[in-house]
Amino acid sequence: MSKLIDGKAFADRLCDKLADEVASLKQDKQLSPCIAVVLVGEDPASATYVGAKVRRCAQLGIDSRSHHLDDTTSEAELLSLIDDLNNDPEVHGILVQLPVPKQINSDAVINAISPDKDVDGFHISNVGALSVGQNNMVPCTPLGSLMLLQDELGDLSGKNAVVVGRSNIVGKPMAALLLQQSCTVTIAHSRTQDLPEVCRGADILVAAVGIPHFIQGDWIKPGATVIDVGINRIYDEALEKNRLVGDVDFDAAKEVAGAITPVPGGVGPMTIACLMYNTVRAAKNQAGIA
Ligand code: NDP
Repeated sequence: MSKLIDGKAFADRLCDKLADEVASLKQDKQLSPCIAVVLVGEDPASATYVGAKVRRCAQLGIDSRSHHLDDTTSEAELLSLIDDLNNDPEVHGILVQLPVPKQINSDAVINAISPDKDVDGFHISNVGALSVGQNNMVPCTPLGSLMLLQDELGDLSGKNAVVVGRSNIVGKPMAALLLQQSCTVTIAHSRTQDLPEVCRGADILVAAVGIPHFIQGDWIKPGATVIDVGINRIYDEALEKNRLVGDVDFDAAKEVAGAITPVPGGVGPMTIACLMYNTVRAAKNQAGIA
């Protein structure tokens, strides 16, 4: 039976520390970290995520400015708002909740955000910085996953890490971070041959696939540390309602793994906590505070 990695507790501790840091930045440096959160359209899931982020900001004393644009907003209008926010010295972080409506090119939006205010870490220059080990803003979900791994395992050097999934927001930056920690990294994806055998070689297995219960118990090396990034909503017949599950078959995996993140309560809370972390860091960087 494996140990549960409690991402919620870790995220709460991180946020407590950040709240203290925000309080002293305000008092000692007259610096009030501030994030602008931009939501375009009426996607209910996006509205829920934005609400959770804004609430976390309030708990930590981080100022947040919400910009809710309607779903007919043009790309030019959104880029104009981003330009204003880039030039506003009181705004340290800018987050545009994705996905944006189809008339807007999300890459154009991401790359219009000043890299120093890009608290999601998606700007192409932040991606490049990560790939050469000069991390600036690092994507929140992989950063939070790395924090959990380091808390659980300490030094990751020399471990075999398998990341299943190669998206720009999770899989690729996760692999880059693990490589920086001197893991031997394999990135698996939909064309990978004999994925179960690839996974069985992993001391660290990160699942970011988007398919409920995809990673099977017998794909996991006994004692491995499993980070389940997946968030999938499925209908549970026994409960007669929807519930969230990960990309790992948790019940089987917990019998084999050394430690595993649950869903919910694992990586999810770390993503928002790391957004707060990036916002505080961005504010300090822009104010020239080490
Ligand atoms: P994407 O859909 O962008 O990427 C999924 C990846 O999984 C792709 O690289 C794809 O491969 C790979 N894949 C799909 N099917 C298979 C297969 N049969 N075998 C092996 N690999 C496969 O998803 P995201 O990275 O955005 O998200 C992944 C999961 O993480 C989702 O459940 C999402 O909800 C969750 N998530 C959770 C967050 C959190 O805060 N905890 C934040 C962000 C995402 P290919 O490239 O070849 O198509």
